[in-house]
Amino acid sequence: MWLTAASVVIADRRLKRNDAGRSPLCLFTARNRGRRGRTRGDTPCEPGTVGVGSFGIGVIRPRSPIYARRVSELPRFPEPLHVGRPNIGDRKRLQERIDTALDRRWLSNGPLVLELEETVAALAGTAHCVATCNGTVALQLAARACGVEPGTEVIVPAFTWVATPHALSWIGVTPVFCDVDEETANLSPALVKELIGPATGGILGVHVFGRPCAVDELTDIAAAAGLPLMFDAAHGLGSTYHGRPVGGFGSVEVFSFHATKFINSFEGGALVTDDPGIAARARAMRNFGIGEDGLVQSHGTNAKMGEASAAMGLTSLENMDALMAYNSLNHDRYERGLEGLPGVSVRRQAPGERANHQYVVVEIDETAAGIHRDGVHEILERHNVRSRRYFHPGCHRHEPYRSRPEVHAPLPLPHTEGLSERVLSLPTGSVIGAEEISGVCDIIRWAVGPTRTGM
Ligand SMILES: *Cc1c(COP(=O)(O)O)cnc(C)c1O
Repeated sequence: MWLTAASVVIADRRLKRNDAGRSPLCLFTARNRGRRGRTRGDTPCEPGTVGVGSFGIGVIRPRSPIYARRVSELPRFPEPLHVGRPNIGDRKRLQERIDTALDRRWLSNGPLVLELEETVAALAGTAHCVATCNGTVALQLAARACGVEPGTEVIVPAFTWVATPHALSWIGVTPVFCDVDEETANLSPALVKELIGPATGGILGVHVFGRPCAVDELTDIAAAAGLPLMFDAAHGLGSTYHGRPVGGFGSVEVFSFHATKFINSFEGGALVTDDPGIAARARAMRNFGIGEDGLVQSHGTNAKMGEASAAMGLTSLENMDALMAYNSLNHDRYERGLEGLPGVSVRRQAPGERANHQYVVVEIDETAAGIHRDGVHEILERHNVRSRRYFHPGCHRHEPYRSRPEVHAPLPLPHTEGLSERVLSLPTGSVIGAEEISGVCDIIRWAVGPTRTGM
């Protein structure tokens, strides 16, 4: 018989009054009150410790043969809490849409994909949208459609998901990693400028965690150098920059509709652009290079989105405003729950802008918090909270890039290194609410608090 959640709350409170991180408070269970009943993970209670058990609260007497679990060894959540649990939306609407596709016997390249493209273009405020089977392939089509040639270099951040550089290197383009701004976690425009050289064929910014890049500065730099500017907006749908929706900046932007993203189509992606040439080239390349006249005009691949995915994407989009409001509420709950904790800060979105808040990212500063991010990650894990270290390590530390630092990381990346040691993404989304968040915040408070402050 294990303690109830209510008992754990009591325990947490008692704990804060207790000094010392070692064996501050014991939780007894009926099972492990005696020497015989000792189970794995139990430790002998030191005399003088306060204990909480099914029999109440008491102080351990000297030589009392009591063993107990430390509070940190009891999982707070019986079921795992995940980052990026898919948001499903209205199942009935999804099933109806899939039925229409089945009734039509039109499963790919059909009207649902067209409808999704129109909806996404309207949200992004762009003239064109080309939906694809995933975001990685959409990045490749985007780069090729912009005329980025194999053998050239594209400047990218290393603080991103590895799909960003992989998309480029898979088409023979060399990613050159540029450091990020600490505040935004996005490409630092001044450093981008420094990295531009004769082999540079383009700039690819990432709106990390949905916070927009320094779009204006990057636009000026790209224009002055005559380079295409592209954005990986895999996290950015629904966010705004100076009041304008993400999607309409640079030559082209790319969304991901992977299952864990803000809007999902099981798997999927899209590129959005105002440039009719980029749109036409991407559309043809998506479909084996077949042009509008039905003839094969160019090299191409198969990057088409299926109708079932479009059905999911459309259903997910219908839920977008509600989800954005809910994510924002969760973000506030975390901010309040972690307020005042030394060394712990919740990353903010750009002030005054709309944001999808798909990611709640905390930064743990080891010096102030007295514990490294990995320690907090581990403690959360023990409590069944599956936080994620997005993005650790930086892409320049993944193969095939780490083996050739002189090619891929010609300048040092101190902010990328620092951020990747501090960030932790916490569970949010439609299946996480006030109770879960309060539990996660309690665990973080516990992890950071007693050893430092002796509260
Ligand atoms: C998810 C993601 C991608 C790739 O999208 P897929 O649809 O999974 O291929 C690219 N860039 C970033 C920053 C991502 O998070």
